[in-house]
Amino acid sequence: MSPRKDNGLIKEALFREYLRTKGLSYTYERRHILKEILETSKTIKHFTIDRLYNNLQAKRNRISKSTLYRTIKLLEDSRIVKKTDIAPDHYVYEKVEQYNIGHVVCLKCKKIIEINHRETKKIVNSICRKKRFQYKTHTFEIKGYCNNCVSLSLKDE
Ligand SMILES: [Zn+2]
Repeated sequence: MSPRKDNGLIKEALFREYLRTKGLSYTYERRHILKEILETSKTIKHFTIDRLYNNLQAKRNRISKSTLYRTIKLLEDSRIVKKTDIAPDHYVYEKVEQYNIGHVVCLKCKKIIEINHRETKKIVNSICRKKRFQYKTHTFEIKGYCNNCVSLSLKDE
């Protein structure tokens, strides 16, 4: 799996998890907007809402501008995109790169928990020191089963 593809899957899982905690569902519109953002960011680092809107229109996705604005807000809150003001009343969005953020992933319910950057940094620094390795970047992922899924499977037995 390429890092880019993997990153897309993580973004999707993070967004689903965020929506779940807010009691919102992963609708057709939300899925397509996220997909378009991931697609657009491959070629444009900073994009505007108008750009996304035009791209969605070109693909015949009938998503209204107000839905797009509301969804972008949700994506901002779930830290998948970030907004940068470049001038008064003019701002752009960009995808948040999360290569250096650690994740704990539940293989059953697909829940993703972020690991605090400071926690992984300590481990990474100590490994680099011991192995005499000049640090550039890292990924950190633990896969397994969350507490909830473990207790549910115990009940089934
Ligand atoms: Zn789980």
